[in-house]
Amino acid sequence: MKNIVFLGAPGSGKGTQSGYLIRDFGIVQISTGDILRAAVTDGTELGVMAKQFMDDGKLVPDSVIIDIMKERISMPDCRKGFILDGFPRTVVQADALDLMLRNELGTEITHVISLVVPDEIIYKRITGRRSCPKCGGVYNIAFNPPKSENKCDVDGTELFQRSDDTKETLDKRLNVFHTSTSLLTTLYSRRGKLKEIDGTQSPDKIYEEIKGFLE
Ligand code: AMP
Repeated sequence: MKNIVFLGAPGSGKGTQSGYLIRDFGIVQISTGDILRAAVTDGTELGVMAKQFMDDGKLVPDSVIIDIMKERISMPDCRKGFILDGFPRTVVQADALDLMLRNELGTEITHVISLVVPDEIIYKRITGRRSCPKCGGVYNIAFNPPKSENKCDVDGTELFQRSDDTKETLDKRLNVFHTSTSLLTTLYSRRGKLKEIDGTQSPDKIYEEIKGFLE
């Protein structure tokens, strides 16, 4: 059973690598960022509240995120294992996660993968990131541009830039990452669960290292 946590700055490649794991291991990926963005799009109470924090590069309060995760993790599709992308982001969330796994599923986190990428590369990746609203495909105008300008290669839909992918918001998100989220690497390293991987390597090379760690 694989219960995996992905750590890493925004744009470190967590989403890409999660995609490979879903394909090969048949386990679900849970991204708190995706859950919040869906709530924003649907205009729910949660979405309206979360959007203010997200557009300001701040973390949504722990209590809100923990409630979302408690509900999600107790769904039947998590019983075969899961990948957490973007959660936990604080030590409070990590402690709450341990508790909910023990109480709801009688299990624990088995592997923690941290993708390490220097800030200057993160800036290039994130400010050039464009996504397809239809198929979820992700491009980069500098490193991985679509064949025709600003149109998805798969379905021709106009690509969009996430509202929190601007330089100004990214400054704040990286600051949060370095102050709060990076404490988690110490926590999981002490527990012997952590593997740090150089996230500047090619996606294939990174995935090879991940598979080696999960064996
Ligand atoms: P992401 O897509 O993971 O980069 O998340 C986008 C934004 O959603 C973050 O900048 C936060 O505002 C919010 N968010 C996502 N996951 C969490 C979390 N675990 N704790 C607090 N805020 C979160």
